[in-house]
Amino acid sequence: MMRSYLKVRDTCPVCGEELFHHRADDGPAYLTILIVGHLMAPLMLFVFTQWRPDPLTSATVFSVACVALSLFLLPRLKGVLVGVQWSKRMHGFGQDDG
Ligand SMILES: [Zn+2]
Repeated sequence: MMRSYLKVRDTCPVCGEELFHHRADDGPAYLTILIVGHLMAPLMLFVFTQWRPDPLTSATVFSVACVALSLFLLPRLKGVLVGVQWSKRMHGFGQDDG
């Protein structure tokens, strides 16, 4: 469905389904922040109360983890959003006249 990290193809290379109707906009970024934030914030509290790590170690580890998880989730959540829009026939998906 994607032709690069975040670019959605105009049509599906397998079945030719039109994909250019999607309007993911800021949705994938919103969902990524929502998930990463709700995972990392409690985890930071837990790590701090359990082990009291050195602040620099803690900041480095959580920064790398947040960036890595965000970059992993972003294109997948974009796929989810385009899939939901397709399944709900939003924004012109499923119309013959395109
Ligand atoms: Zn297809």
